[in-house]
Amino acid sequence: MEKRTKENSHTVIMIGAGPAALSAAVYTTREDIETLLLEKGVPGGLAAVTDWVDNYPGFPDGLAGLELAGNLQKQAERFGAVIDFGEVTALHDEGEWKHLETTLGDLYARVVLVATGSDYKKLGIPGEAEYYARGVHYCATCDGAFYRDKRLVVVGGGNSAVQEAMFLTRFASHIDLMVRSRMRASDVLQKELQKFVDKGKITVHLATTTDEIIGDKDGKVVQVKGTDTKTGNEVKIDTDGVFVFVGLKPNSEFAGGQLETDELGLIKTDENLMSSMNGVFVAGDIRSHATMQIASAVGEGATAALKSANTSEGHVDVMEEV
Ligand SMILES: Cc1cc2nc3c(=O)[nH]c(=O)nc-3n(C[C@H](O)[C@H](O)[C@H](O)COP(=O)(O)OP(=O)(O)OC[C@H]3O[C@@H](n4cnc5c(N)ncnc54)[C@H](O)[C@@H]3O)c2cc1C
Repeated sequence: MEKRTKENSHTVIMIGAGPAALSAAVYTTREDIETLLLEKGVPGGLAAVTDWVDNYPGFPDGLAGLELAGNLQKQAERFGAVIDFGEVTALHDEGEWKHLETTLGDLYARVVLVATGSDYKKLGIPGEAEYYARGVHYCATCDGAFYRDKRLVVVGGGNSAVQEAMFLTRFASHIDLMVRSRMRASDVLQKELQKFVDKGKITVHLATTTDEIIGDKDGKVVQVKGTDTKTGNEVKIDTDGVFVFVGLKPNSEFAGGQLETDELGLIKTDENLMSSMNGVFVAGDIRSHATMQIASAVGEGATAALKSANTSEGHVDVMEEV
């Protein structure tokens, strides 16, 4: 373990640089509170890989997720937020200081904001890991354009799966939507989906599990095997690629039981958005009972920053104390 030094000590460290953390960073840095954000993937988080955001207040015509993410980042950096690329792997309470184990080495902070959101859930079936990024994908905005005029399978029956299947029709010639049980997407989305079904662009396979992804000798995905759970019959669908949208897995593993979580693995907070560890705040999708929207993540980020200001008071002296 590296000892605490001036160089590795920060007033505020935010874990993640998605909408929640970027918004929080606007508030802390504008108050001259030194703030470091650690990001293991892409700044902007899930917003950056969302094709189009129609419901973010203030943008009556909607805007691209990437543009919104870029704007949030620009604004935080304008006030002095620093984003470093690295992953936080463990968090320890050392009283006044929190100790973070990261891929960039050991870091210390007076105040920590956890804004780690979620990652895509995997199916855990044969072929999924083998063909990852070579025919199996989790981000339509990132990889959809590779499938111009090709056939695709989309797995899932929730809002994300339906939304992304409709988006992928911009590229793919046809989409088979495989839904394990029944459709769980909202009525509004199901109505929109029906228009694509009527046009023959999407075929929906209800009560159909996805069991295996098959490739050819050149290493290309060529087929998906599943089971019709009503008849027990095998279902084979020829395809050029598979997009999986079966939910999200909370990024709270790094906390390793140090922070109290709910049965889903989301981090519990009090009314000030403070976790069970004093000085560690939580905002956005990773918070228990979060509403999983960009607008709420941004709002929670601002709230957590304002609520944490008391804890980071005296920040001007922090570096002298080391
Ligand atoms: C397909 C899809 C479409 C969506 N469409 C909409 C929409 O139209 N409107 C809307 O309002 N919302 C939408 N959402 C939801 C929205 O994207 C999220 O609510 C929002 O991004 C949550 O922000 P966040 O900052 O809490 O988390 P995230 O955006 O998930 O950001 C968390 C960040 O933390 C990083 N991170 C995680 N763990 C670590 C670690 N240990 N160390 C370092 N970094 C870490 C991640 O890499 C990520 O960048 C959509 C989501 C999906 C999946």
